[in-house]
Amino acid sequence: MSLTEFEIIQDYFNRRLNGHADVVLGIGDDAAILEVPADKQLLVSTDTLVSGLHFPDHISPLDLGYRCLAVNLSDLAAMGASPRWATLALTLPEANAAWLQGFSDGFFTLADRHGLALVGGDITRGPLTITVQVHGFAGRGQALCRKGANVGDLVYVTGELGAAGMALACMEHRLDLSAESVNQVARRYLRPEPRLAAGMALIGMASSAIDISDGLLADLGHILKASEVGATLRLDDLPLPSAADEIGRNAAVHYALGSGDDYELCFTVPAVVVPEMEQRLRNLCAVTCIGEISDSNELDCMEAGQTVTITGHGFQHFGAD
Ligand code: ADP
Ligand code: MG
Repeated sequence: MSLTEFEIIQDYFNRRLNGHADVVLGIGDDAAILEVPADKQLLVSTDTLVSGLHFPDHISPLDLGYRCLAVNLSDLAAMGASPRWATLALTLPEANAAWLQGFSDGFFTLADRHGLALVGGDITRGPLTITVQVHGFAGRGQALCRKGANVGDLVYVTGELGAAGMALACMEHRLDLSAESVNQVARRYLRPEPRLAAGMALIGMASSAIDISDGLLADLGHILKASEVGATLRLDDLPLPSAADEIGRNAAVHYALGSGDDYELCFTVPAVVVPEMEQRLRNLCAVTCIGEISDSNELDCMEAGQTVTITGHGFQHFGAD
């Protein structure tokens, strides 16, 4: 590499930390030393993004730096944790200064917004691969889990579903949208907004939660399995992006159910806390009730008052030919 590993770390990643007395020792030694508040639990999550597999190889370093942190923060959001630290392991085919500048700018744009300190990492040469680990806090025993949904709880999602899947389909020439819609959905794919404030606001309210990285059906399915319950989903109530008008509601519902990368939250709440939950989230993000937890042990979908069956890649009306 033209830049040395030391230069890369110093020039692009070793930033001054403000307001981080909990970082006793950050970048520069063999390990970081971090202080966890006595009344909190530490939540740790990691995700790897491989070029060509988890993102198209043409996306800009700025978007990539943002996105690799966003997808990790989304996991903390789903647990209701407040983010604090991150580590970054970068595998790079080459040390390109412009690329590193864009990538680190994207990464720190989001890190700074959430008061997150980069406290260590690693750099190796190889096919472009990015691993981020994030660390956050939650009150003792308070973190939201996939397990915990009860029969009768209502199922909610934040934001809109399906835009990121549409964006990826456009990038891969599987879908044609107007320029305006492409812009809208591309932003949702490239710059997902980890729902951290919403996750924290749901502490003490939600009985279970997950972030939607693999599509609503798959991720709600994880809640149902962990909680040993079923659910009835009302497809008519799914919050869809405005691009749905262009491709038709049916096609848009397919994206909402089956495509990933939206990084919205799906959570369950007992009916009695719904008014307070909606009040708490009012100024944070849109939330939509899309169904109810049942004792069926299955995920049943309803559309226009009819039950529809879900197939591997979408759904089908009963009796449809
Ligand atoms: P070692 O060889 O002991 O693992 P390194 O030379 O890999 O140490 O890293 C030196 C310091 O720089 C360590 O504190 C490490 O955590 C940090 N570091 C390495 N790569 C990155 C990175 N991409 N981002 C942030 N910190 C990094
Ligand atoms: Mg190392």
